Amino acid sequence: GAAPPPEPSSTAAPPYQDPSLPVADRVDDLLSRMSLDDKIGQMTQIEKDALVPQSDLATYRIGSVLSGGDSTVSPNNARTWADTYDSLQRTALGTPLGIPMIYGIDAVHGHNAVRGATVFPHNIGLGATRDPALVQRIGRAVAEEVAGTGIDWSFAPCLCVVRNDRWGRTYESFGEKPELPTSMATFVTGMQGGTLGADPASVLATAKHYLGDGGTTGGVDQGDTELSEAELRAVHLPPFQEAVRRGVGSVMLSYSSWNGVKSHAHKYLVTDVLKGELGFTGFVVSDWAAIDQLDGRSGFTAAEITTAVNAGVDMVMVPHDYKKFLSLLRGEVSAGRISMARVDDANRRILTKKFRLGLFERPLTDRSFTSQVGSAEHRALAREAVRASQVLLKNDGGVLPLAKNAKLFVAGKSADDIGNQSGGWTVGWQGRSGPVTEGTTILQGIRATVTDPSRVTYDRYGNGIDGSYTAAVAVVGETPYAEGRGDRPGSMGLDQEDLQTLARLKASGVPVVVVLVSGRPLDIADRLPDWKALLAAWLPGTEGSGVSDVLFGDHAPTGKLPVTWMRSASQQPINDGDGKTPLFPYGHGLSYDTAPDPEPDPDPTPTPEPQACTAQFRLASSWSGGYQAEVTVKNTGTGPLTGWSVEWDLDGSAVTNLWNGTLSVAQGRATVRNTAHNGALSPGATTSFGFTANGTAGAPAPQCTGS
Ligand code: BGC
Repeated sequence: GAAPPPEPSSTAAPPYQDPSLPVADRVDDLLSRMSLDDKIGQMTQIEKDALVPQSDLATYRIGSVLSGGDSTVSPNNARTWADTYDSLQRTALGTPLGIPMIYGIDAVHGHNAVRGATVFPHNIGLGATRDPALVQRIGRAVAEEVAGTGIDWSFAPCLCVVRNDRWGRTYESFGEKPELPTSMATFVTGMQGGTLGADPASVLATAKHYLGDGGTTGGVDQGDTELSEAELRAVHLPPFQEAVRRGVGSVMLSYSSWNGVKSHAHKYLVTDVLKGELGFTGFVVSDWAAIDQLDGRSGFTAAEITTAVNAGVDMVMVPHDYKKFLSLLRGEVSAGRISMARVDDANRRILTKKFRLGLFERPLTDRSFTSQVGSAEHRALAREAVRASQVLLKNDGGVLPLAKNAKLFVAGKSADDIGNQSGGWTVGWQGRSGPVTEGTTILQGIRATVTDPSRVTYDRYGNGIDGSYTAAVAVVGETPYAEGRGDRPGSMGLDQEDLQTLARLKASGVPVVVVLVSGRPLDIADRLPDWKALLAAWLPGTEGSGVSDVLFGDHAPTGKLPVTWMRSASQQPINDGDGKTPLFPYGHGLSYDTAPDPEPDPDPTPTPEPQACTAQFRLASSWSGGYQAEVTVKNTGTGPLTGWSVEWDLDGSAVTNLWNGTLSVAQGRATVRNTAHNGALSPGATTSFGFTANGTAGAPAPQCTGS
């Protein structure tokens, strides 16, 4: 016989505490026990440093704490962070219902607020890798570091599609074409794991910023995205669709507006499209103090809270004046301007994620991950990402790779600066120059790679160079910034210091190799003739050795431009397919290797006419319904190849977008003619172009003709 049901007793754990019950039942049970104060508390997220005294966390039943980008550097190591987390969590649990808080942080390129954590390349560099599997592994590593400090939730990935490089958040974007950020939504799976909470290092991810943050007019941060609904959906929605498909737990709204209406007030976009059409079941969090902006006046009002919550915001990042916020929210609910159904829906969404994360069973830090913060394994992964993210834009006369026994002069403000190479969102919101955290500078990486470090001379300003050097390596570019402070409405060129350093190097007559450390393309066309080589390193993070790995040829560059590189700032916005002539097109990226030999012809019939070129097809990525591919053309002749065209069978696919070149498609065959950017190809040289197609990728063998 079955065991008799347990005696009801006042000490028996309530059903919501029972991990063997389905999450939906636990949520229902918990909701039925919650007061209005408990419920509005769950919808409130506050900045940790605003919480005074700490007991307010329990007194006001606050559901979430964050460390915003501008949080101080302290507490500054993993163990201290974990201690702080546990202390806050114990306080949160000290309420009658014992609901755990959820702690969020911007771990946007590694656990970047924590000194000593591994800092990965910013998203723009990851976009250049074209490697979604690598990005998923990075998501996993970041989750382990975040979990090692107790933290449950990261405000990443940024799935913005950058359409104007003047925008100060360009580097937070994986790229300008929707398919690129979409493909990198693998980060979500890396961070959360296949099933949220199944793994102890499962960290809730956030797809941000919904919607259209990268499409504002003029590239103005928090600006207005003036697009038709069809364009908004085509360009900015796909990455969010993919993140939802991958089960992303939260979505953060954008400060920006769509045709004059703020996202935080946009019920159609948030409730109808995101939660309805896309079927998003997680919770929506506001951006930092974003509700304050809804009426154009500073501070928040009851009306602004109501507008946002009724539009579909489930949790408000207040972040400071929580007592005022709670009393206004309570008043709006009591007056019926926010329905109890809306409050319950928000709570259901938030509590479901807390249960799934395992916060009720394992509320405190799993210290077994604390040693993973900045571990050798994670740094090795970051170094791999740095190698893969670099884009070789120019390499005249094969000056790169450098010989390891060459006599080298290294210069530039970012050659020996962890802060510059990490950029914004690194131990502080804006980041800063200097030794902000642990890592390897590019100069240190160079010195560790050469056979005799005494043959490497360094002077930040390029002073003391003479004609005796084999090459000069100038590491120049942008210094750290974040968000609107990085907007560049005017010049997008190099700063005075960089220009002077470069002038000194040029005057020596030594061949100059420029490594550009920047969050976006810079306006450098007029300087380019002075440089033998140009390597875009983006914002590589703490592992500068990944740059020297490429400079000395231990790893040939494989990165491809994730954005179109302007010929001059006046071209902004410039994007692939808009008819403007860039300096380097989207998808451009050289390597040291000449193209591998073409596949042997499976059909040994008539030998084709001798041609001055070969073409090789490579599948770059695929997803349901389409693929991206790339064709590399190589000059196999002895003289310059001035004109060529490639033809291949598309297997019934429809090309939707060509990264470079002019294309004509006729009945399953496509022809691409000489691309503008490279002009003539010298003997042995290669050039690549790519395209996106809807359909099934076959294995086309492109035919190249040229003279
Ligand atoms: C940014 C968000 C970030 C939030 C919390 C805001 O200023 O726009 O991307 O997640 O701050 O730090």
